[in-house]
Amino acid sequence: MFEKFTPTPRIDCDVLVAGAGPVGLMLAAELQLAGARVLVVERRHEPDTAVKAGGINTATAAALDRRGQLSALAPAAARRPAFAGHFGGILVPADPVDRDDPVLRGRGANGWFMEIPQLEVERVLGARAVELGAEVRRGVELRGFRADEDGVTVQLDDGDVRAAWLVGCDGGRSTVRRLGGFEFTGTDPGITGRQAVVVMTGAEGLGAGWQHTPTGVYVHGPMPGRVRTVEFDGPPADRDAPVTAAEIEASLRRVSGADVHVSEIHGGTRFTDNARQATTYRRGRVLLCGDAAHVHSPFSGQGLNLGIGDAVNLGWKLAATVRGGAPEGLLDTYTAERHPVGARVLDWTRAQVAVMRGDADSRALRHVVTDFLGTRDGSTYYAQQVSGLGQRYELGGGHPLVGMTMPELRLDDGTRLTEHARSGRTLLVDLAGDARLPALAAAYPGDLDLIQGRSAGAGSDALLIRPDGFVAWAAASGDLSGLETALTRWVGRVPAASAAVPANSPRHT
Ligand SMILES: Cc1cc2nc3c(=O)[nH]c(=O)nc-3n(C[C@H](O)[C@H](O)[C@H](O)COP(=O)(O)OP(=O)(O)OC[C@H]3O[C@@H](n4cnc5c(N)ncnc54)[C@H](O)[C@@H]3O)c2cc1C
Repeated sequence: MFEKFTPTPRIDCDVLVAGAGPVGLMLAAELQLAGARVLVVERRHEPDTAVKAGGINTATAAALDRRGQLSALAPAAARRPAFAGHFGGILVPADPVDRDDPVLRGRGANGWFMEIPQLEVERVLGARAVELGAEVRRGVELRGFRADEDGVTVQLDDGDVRAAWLVGCDGGRSTVRRLGGFEFTGTDPGITGRQAVVVMTGAEGLGAGWQHTPTGVYVHGPMPGRVRTVEFDGPPADRDAPVTAAEIEASLRRVSGADVHVSEIHGGTRFTDNARQATTYRRGRVLLCGDAAHVHSPFSGQGLNLGIGDAVNLGWKLAATVRGGAPEGLLDTYTAERHPVGARVLDWTRAQVAVMRGDADSRALRHVVTDFLGTRDGSTYYAQQVSGLGQRYELGGGHPLVGMTMPELRLDDGTRLTEHARSGRTLLVDLAGDARLPALAAAYPGDLDLIQGRSAGAGSDALLIRPDGFVAWAAASGDLSGLETALTRWVGRVPAASAAVPANSPRHT
């Protein structure tokens, strides 16, 4: 008699991404680029046209630039702005920002924020994901899943799919997070924010830009007809009820005291300051990314950027795991690196609510923070945060560039270092003609690109740059110590055949 044979369930795709918001689409593109087969399912038939993020920060722009996608986005404005941004409605002047600050140097000529509607970002990312081979199925909802050691069986409303990995990019009210048993901890909401593009009369009674009043905060502009109100009377009773012209009008009247009449609204949304974060971004074969992993108020525009940062961090690590041979523990560095960044953004948004209230304590705090943000140190600190360039991973090693986004360098052949990152592979950058580096690079065919050139003001003479654009290792004065450890940690073990090069062997230039 034959033994009972239990077939291994077939794998339909390497990674199933739930949600085709900006984060799911960016992740899909990064995974495909790095060799994983991706299926994206999105319950909406068409992209959401609600007015959400109005721009991307420098870190997101750099991530798109590395993949050759930035030029597809046409920014609304490309001029140096008077303000670096706002903090809880406090405008932060751009002039005092220290342009020689090591984190900001060479960036921000046109500010640290590019005005581009979220919908446009989604359009470009969607086209890119499909061009790279991802399948994007719209009008398909994830209803449930069962994860085991070898994969995940996902129940979609049009049938089951078996994936090796499931990533929930399904937004703030993530089904994947809920069904996956992820803990989601944080602070409760205390405000109601409303936003819409409106047609109204009586607008001359409104102040321009951010206005703090005893009853709340409102913003009029910068786009014609765009209004936002914030009231501190608890969260909305029903977040799913459609936002009406009457609701926006009543809120605007309460907060501004102006005699406005709103006759039409477009893209109306409500928001709160619910600030929560998954305690881990991975449980076995199920991961979270973007708003599914963290929610917070939209003040000073961090949500989209934080999610894109997650996707860029996760994509190459998960693809390497799918391909096999990924360095030990690589996928666990996703939570280890991104959770602290998310926690910081949550606090950044909480602190803004603290300076926005109408009471005397908040008013006093607002004055102190306004003074600080007007100084060189204060505005530089602010620019580091909102640009996303201040994000740093604890990757060890003594060089100041390690753990930071790769420097913006122009090489002597006229290319920008960023342009060499299109492949999505790790880069070993030789800026001093070190004869030991080509031998090392040759040990990783297909995983590592060797870039050789000279560049003034690089701050280093060799760099190892991960596929997400972060510096994993940097050398000064020809000292290659730590390079093999970094290669082992981020790319994989050096094959025995490649004679390891002594760190102190002479350079040949
Ligand atoms: C009013 C407002 C203003 C904002 N302003 C800014 C700003 O200025 N700057 C900024 O950076 N960010 C801003 N944000 C935040 C930003 O919009 C979000 O952080 C961003 O959209 C998160 O992207 P995401 O892909 O993670 O999630 P989402 O954009 O929410 O996408 C999730 C997708 O998953 C789909 N989905 C959900 N459940 C399922 C399921 N079960 N099956 C299949 N599909 C599913 C949804 O339909 C959706 O398309 C704002 C948000 C709001 C609401």
